[in-house]
Amino acid sequence: MSKSPDTQRPPSQRYGAASMEKIVSLCKRRGFIFQSSEIYGGLNGAWDYGPLGVELKRNLKNYWWRTMVHERDDIVGMDGSILMNRLVWKASGHEDTFSDPMVDCRSCKARLRADQITNKKGERQCPNCGGKDLTEPRAFNLMFKTYVGATEDESSITYLRPETAQAIFVQFKNVLDVARKKLPFGVAQIGKAFRNEINPRNFTFRSREFEQMELEYFCRPEQGMELLEYWKDERLKFYENIGISRENLHVLTVPDEERAFYSKGTYDIEYEFPFGRQELEGVAYRTDYDLTQHQKASGKSLEYFDEETKQKFIPHVVEPSAGVDRTVLALICEAYTEDEAPDEKGKMETRTVLRLHPRMAPIKCAVFPLLKNKEELVAKAKEIVDLLRPHMFVFYDEGGAIGRRYRRQDEIGTPFGVTVDFETLGEKDDRLRDTVTLRERDSMKQERVKISDLPGILVSRIL
Ligand code: ATP
Repeated sequence: MSKSPDTQRPPSQRYGAASMEKIVSLCKRRGFIFQSSEIYGGLNGAWDYGPLGVELKRNLKNYWWRTMVHERDDIVGMDGSILMNRLVWKASGHEDTFSDPMVDCRSCKARLRADQITNKKGERQCPNCGGKDLTEPRAFNLMFKTYVGATEDESSITYLRPETAQAIFVQFKNVLDVARKKLPFGVAQIGKAFRNEINPRNFTFRSREFEQMELEYFCRPEQGMELLEYWKDERLKFYENIGISRENLHVLTVPDEERAFYSKGTYDIEYEFPFGRQELEGVAYRTDYDLTQHQKASGKSLEYFDEETKQKFIPHVVEPSAGVDRTVLALICEAYTEDEAPDEKGKMETRTVLRLHPRMAPIKCAVFPLLKNKEELVAKAKEIVDLLRPHMFVFYDEGGAIGRRYRRQDEIGTPFGVTVDFETLGEKDDRLRDTVTLRERDSMKQERVKISDLPGILVSRIL
């Protein structure tokens, strides 16, 4: 729960002026991301993931889960509810303090976050209309309020959770009892969170409904600072392992005055988006604040009993908290490239390529028969689809010239393409029977491989 200002930073040199527009357009055109409720004019701050977007998002979440939970002995998972007892939000401090300062422009009626107000020669100005008639900033709580049950009164109020973390804190004792873990250990969770952001913007970057991937890593007080460093480094490795280059990542040490009062250290892991350098994830050492608050408010012990020292104490916690949607957007921005490639007639043309890490790519391999009206080619290609399907998400395409089919896959980031041609049928050289060309997206290099070797080769390259 840290609110940092959404200041406008200069866009990175890497991107051309139009590139965010191009990225948004590709996302819609190829079915990654659509505006929510589009046919009714949309809903500000809400987005739908289309057939390819949902795969990309799922690959990201699955990889996070795999590396955070399955590949470690010291972390377990959970899945908390979105609606919780209102007392949770009172105890956590969200009901009183989870707010942004908001300013109204009396001229154009715009509602703005106070940090978006421009300051010209010491005078406050509306960034929309240039008007100077602005209200004083006042706190605007970002939680969506709702009512549970049939009566809409004070007693039935609760909120859509603005972060997933609180469910982990309030279930700490239950998880500890069943997981039988010794400190340090963590609880991981992926799920939806909701914030009534004053100004959703930059495509999916600041939304009102989004997903978080959060880990609460509980430890002894003396381990906190060391684990903060450890998790910052682990999380940087994670981003590199999904294809985000280290040079586009930046670690901001959040200064004392901007840190939550209970935190002893916070890093923001930032990414160079086309619209500037912005936060992807916060890694915060939250001390024993959350568990202490819930223990006080609920009257239930949330202490840990140390078998060796026979001491009881409230564990401290380090929290790496990442946004799924922001990371998906970073993956697309990082992957988007245009290069030159020859068309069917050998003339150079601009090729749009999403250079997604094969691990993240929505479709891992496309399978093409060279011609769609040649039964044997089609049958062989469909056999290959059946062979690969148990191992990965594959796509069969027989429509159009082969070069065009490759381009369509390049644009959505499919790392491999398999083409079944007459050599596969052994028509030219019997030694080539049951071999195919395997084309790699970025280099466009082709190799001839045996069909029976395909699952092994591809699985080793997409893991
Ligand atoms: P910001 O300062 O950008 O509002 P924050 O510091 O409030 O973010 P945290 O409370 O630390 O964010 O939340 C952890 C992560 O959840 C963020 O790093 C981000 O990836 C994601 N997140 C937070 N708010 C949003 C949002 N409105 N839309 C999309 N993702 C979000």
